[in-house]
Amino acid sequence: MGYRVGIGFDAHRLTEGRALVLGGIPIPHERGLEGHSDGDVLLHAVTDAILGAVGAPDIGSLFPSHDPRFQGTSSRLFVERAVAVAAERGFRLAQLDTVILAEEPRLAERYAALRHSLAEIAGLSEDAVSVKATTCDGMGFIGRGEGIAAQAVVLVERIEPREDL
Ligand code: MG
Repeated sequence: MGYRVGIGFDAHRLTEGRALVLGGIPIPHERGLEGHSDGDVLLHAVTDAILGAVGAPDIGSLFPSHDPRFQGTSSRLFVERAVAVAAERGFRLAQLDTVILAEEPRLAERYAALRHSLAEIAGLSEDAVSVKATTCDGMGFIGRGEGIAAQAVVLVERIEPREDL
């Protein structure tokens, strides 16, 4: 089996006094995402998608929220480590598709910057990365602006033949 897929999802609460960081870049907004790290839901979803694709433990298992080493850390660290875990297991990323669920801020004008950032962090070419955003039409916790969520799907390909997997 040369290819495998993984899915990731995350949601964080929006709060006053925090910077909003999505996909590794600062986004101007009056509130930011709570979190032990920088709260970057998009990178957390991407991390779990990569880990899932290669059958590794999830983000909470590898980077526990009680671990002081990850206090306030940039979440790009999690993606970079997940890419390394995938490589150790004989896979590299081939494609990444993502969706951000947010009532505010509007993110369409940031698609190019988000795509560029995700590609750079994940080590992919930009044409192998997609970033989309949607509101939830005022419904639920996203619609009330209480938080932001993200979903990611990643395709990985085997970089060396393995008889034992
Ligand atoms: Mg998270």
